[in-house]
Amino acid sequence: MKQICFAACLLISVIGAAQDTAGYWQQKVDYNIDVQLDDRRKSLSGRVTMNYVNNSPDTLEYLWIHLWPNAYKNENTALAAQVKAGKKKVRKSEADRGFIDSLAFSDGTNSLQFEFEGTNIDVAKLSLAAPLYPGSTVTITTPFFVKLPFYYSRSGYEGNQFMVCQWYPKPAVYDRKGWHPMPYLEHGEFYSEFGRYDVSISLPASYVVAATGSLQNKQELAQYKEIGKVNNNNPEQQQKFNGANGTKTLRYLAENVHDFAWFADKDFIIRYDTLATDAGVVDVFSYSQPSRKSQWANSVQFIEDAVRHYQSSLGQYPYPVVAAVEGPGNSTSGGMEYPMVTLITSPDATRESLDGVITHEVGHNWLYGIIASNERDHAWMDEGINTFYQFRYEAEKYRYNSVVGKYIPKEFKDLSTEEFLSRIYKALTSLPGKQPIETTSAAFTDRDQYGIVVYIKSSIWMYILQLEMGEEALNKAMQLYFQRWKFRHPYPEDFRQVLEESSGKDLKPVFDLLHVENNFGGKG
Ligand SMILES: [Zn+2]
Repeated sequence: MKQICFAACLLISVIGAAQDTAGYWQQKVDYNIDVQLDDRRKSLSGRVTMNYVNNSPDTLEYLWIHLWPNAYKNENTALAAQVKAGKKKVRKSEADRGFIDSLAFSDGTNSLQFEFEGTNIDVAKLSLAAPLYPGSTVTITTPFFVKLPFYYSRSGYEGNQFMVCQWYPKPAVYDRKGWHPMPYLEHGEFYSEFGRYDVSISLPASYVVAATGSLQNKQELAQYKEIGKVNNNNPEQQQKFNGANGTKTLRYLAENVHDFAWFADKDFIIRYDTLATDAGVVDVFSYSQPSRKSQWANSVQFIEDAVRHYQSSLGQYPYPVVAAVEGPGNSTSGGMEYPMVTLITSPDATRESLDGVITHEVGHNWLYGIIASNERDHAWMDEGINTFYQFRYEAEKYRYNSVVGKYIPKEFKDLSTEEFLSRIYKALTSLPGKQPIETTSAAFTDRDQYGIVVYIKSSIWMYILQLEMGEEALNKAMQLYFQRWKFRHPYPEDFRQVLEESSGKDLKPVFDLLHVENNFGGKG
């Protein structure tokens, strides 16, 4: 996620190519989902089939399942508590809230019972009818009904735009450290199992849809490309779907991802281009709101530049599609990443800041999507490292920095990239990152500390790491980290091990800084 506002205010191969890591294992969950959007009732009804493969050495008698639409249900959820603590309003009216119900889990033979995790109604313990032995698979199905909330905290509807995120029943991660069930939070992100998604979305034909995965409906895809090519070279033209009658069912396939989000709007302006990479041609789409002032005219270019930047920094983009979606105009949360598709909510962005936020969110395909660390416990591993690469992108392209923004002195434009970054990091070091970088998301005292520590203090830490290792050695080590941990779940000790193996250096002094309170006082 990217949160621009807090900082500005305060500051003034693809699959299976990784080298085996001895004893490493991870679970696999494949999904088959049929879902219908009721755009008048702002709701979804569907059925999910989950194929859960137990690759662990342990026998499982239950699965923890996330039911995250319930986070929006009342004023007692973990999300509501965090929103209220941040002095923001929880949705009061019934129509504005969200929930999931009509669940009836089955393994094909037996109906399966679940109970909520204490007071968390968005986490459930699902008892299996029989023990799931190591190497075994269980197929679980359930119908579901979701009432979408009025858009807030990454999900919901606004008018006729639908941001369908965290919307289906989904097993928590079981890894070498055990189960990781977690209630949905505003400040604190995700941790999910990899698998294959086969998702069919039924909705009125007048909607344009952006989603994780590649669209299987050839005619619809051809129309998006045709319209998108025209719009990419011309001022915004209304697309063709607005007047369409009836309903349609769009099918998306995605391999080796750990989440699936989708976005539907009648007014999306589609833009399209192709990007040639070493692995083949990637379809690049953007879906924006109609607006004369919009910087989105350049959005496809920004996405392409971002993909090139992260490919040269870390490694090959492995998916066939990359997309960015413009969210509701009244929200300025920055953006939110999902595999292959990102939601951008920065209505007043300048060219540089829109490029920065799109790049940040596209960059999460590498640091969250492909390298899938436990973000809830170690948020710096995706946000901090990703922000470090975003800052480098902004420095190289514009001598710009999203956090410092308009306060960057004019003469900084004449500096070399390295000198510019050195000055920027020095300035950022003055921000009051009181809590240690290694703080679990739920343990941050407030929104500002979460923002400053997870994004900025952690990016400064990466810069210190670069000063310690040297830029070339860090780049080499990060590429090894990507190769070894892509489509996997690394922890901080795995990250450190790769850096030390690649560089031959003892990095204990730098890793000790992850536990230090307050800012780094001039070290950056
Ligand atoms: Zn982020």
